[in-house]
Amino acid sequence: MTQPSASACPCGSQRVYADCCGPLHDGAPAPGAAALMRSRYSAYVLGIESYLLATWHPSTRPARLDLEAAPAPRWLGLEVKRHAETGPDAAIVEFVARYRIAGRAHRLHEVSRFVREAGRWYYVSGEFAASPARS
Ligand SMILES: [Zn+2]
Repeated sequence: MTQPSASACPCGSQRVYADCCGPLHDGAPAPGAAALMRSRYSAYVLGIESYLLATWHPSTRPARLDLEAAPAPRWLGLEVKRHAETGPDAAIVEFVARYRIAGRAHRLHEVSRFVREAGRWYYVSGEFAASPARS
């Protein structure tokens, strides 16, 4: 993988990685739930499993993610649709992430819940929104 620092951030913010999700991946606290959401998407793109686990609330965090498991998705883009504070230390972020697995395009439309503890935002859980029915 190429060094991402000086290239466009994978989250689609139009900023360079070093000025966007890079500092968060290096340990800086996310300024808000939407920024954390973006940095987690970027971490999926870049395969930074440790960051995904570190920003996952302990109450819902899986032991591991198995990002290496085949077939790996190829992430195509992120669109943050909505960001709302639902309390002093809680927020939701609605987003659409597009990806491709084994040549087939998929669209993940999710409303994620985030909480802030001791100044840091954590991903808690997500619910699919308006997904096509799957049989
Ligand atoms: Zn970014």
